[in-house]
Amino acid sequence: MNIIETDKQYIANTYARFPLQLKSGKGAVMYDEDGKKYIDLGTGIAVTTFGIADEEWATAVTAQVNALQHTSNLYYSEPCAQLAKMLCEKTGMKKVFFSNSGAEANECAIKAARRWAFTKYGDENHSTIITLKNSFHGRTITTLAATGQDVFHKEFGPFTPGFVYADVDENADSVRKLAEENDCCAIMFEVVQGEGGVMPLPASFIEGLKKVAEEKDLLLVIDEVQTGNGRTGKLYSYMHFGLEPDIVSTAKGLAGGLPLGATMLGEKVQDVLTPSSHGSTFGGNPVACAGAISIFSRLTDELLAEVTAKSDYILSALQEAKGVKSISGMGLMLGIETEKPVAEVLSSCREKGVLPISAKTKLRLLPPLNIGWDELKEAIEIIKEVLA
Ligand SMILES: *Cc1c(COP(=O)(O)O)cnc(C)c1O
Repeated sequence: MNIIETDKQYIANTYARFPLQLKSGKGAVMYDEDGKKYIDLGTGIAVTTFGIADEEWATAVTAQVNALQHTSNLYYSEPCAQLAKMLCEKTGMKKVFFSNSGAEANECAIKAARRWAFTKYGDENHSTIITLKNSFHGRTITTLAATGQDVFHKEFGPFTPGFVYADVDENADSVRKLAEENDCCAIMFEVVQGEGGVMPLPASFIEGLKKVAEEKDLLLVIDEVQTGNGRTGKLYSYMHFGLEPDIVSTAKGLAGGLPLGATMLGEKVQDVLTPSSHGSTFGGNPVACAGAISIFSRLTDELLAEVTAKSDYILSALQEAKGVKSISGMGLMLGIETEKPVAEVLSSCREKGVLPISAKTKLRLLPPLNIGWDELKEAIEIIKEVLA
């Protein structure tokens, strides 16, 4: 049996995989089992921030593997403490809870928001969280409930109660209405809805959100699982809008390819999680944290400016290109509405040695943040050919 047959027989049928087995790579380049070369514009869904087998990252990770690969949270550990310090110093957040994935980072965000409301009111009557339609927050029963898309609310019920879904409108009037009709503690959202089709929230909506949150005493909970860690050209996407979040969750690109989730807690909520109120066996694993320190310490202003410059290049190259209907997104998280069906575009790109992904019906580009200009230009030329 070859690997594809073995996978089909023994792996649960949850993934519609591309007919491609990747074996190795370096930076923005990956190779399949036949040694065919591809330029990576997907980064394992915004995960391999500095590409494949980045030298500095690999050195940090292997040093930690050889020193101590796991301690559990029964003990103190340097990489985890140092990473938390870096995250707080760069964001102004006060404390961090580490987990292993985006869904878990959001679970913690939800628990912290509800604990804050419980602490404040002394009961569970203010536990409702407003999320947005077309959002995506994860695959656990609770984060599916938080996800504002009906397709995810079927056949796995009962789902966790306490979520209501607002429209993304001009001035956040829909959020205001829900805040008036329900006893809410928080509003949770992505600044750019990634899985929803790379849809940035309108600036006027974000301004509206700020006002409603202040008036109704709602916590601002921002899901930066995909948008975070430099992806949009700022360290976190909320920084484009001068938002002051109470809770920020992140994961995907944080550790450059190792599983790590982080929930950052601001001033108001920094002390609501008390001993035994939450935990994770693997959370803050030293190997993942060593990888994250290597990534996070290189998300400098220079690097972020480079992300923006590459984004501008892609926009100028593709905006007027044949077969392109529109482009949305921020930084190196872009969604292209194409004339050809996206499955066909992906397949042609694969044939020609480029690996973008899709988001709903759009072509989604998530290249490594440090992709070389030559590789980027070569990949964009190929995409232009394919789309024409
Ligand atoms: C991917 C994603 C998640 C879920 O992350 P997992 O690591 O797959 O659990 C949550 N929120 C957003 C915005 C995401 O893009």
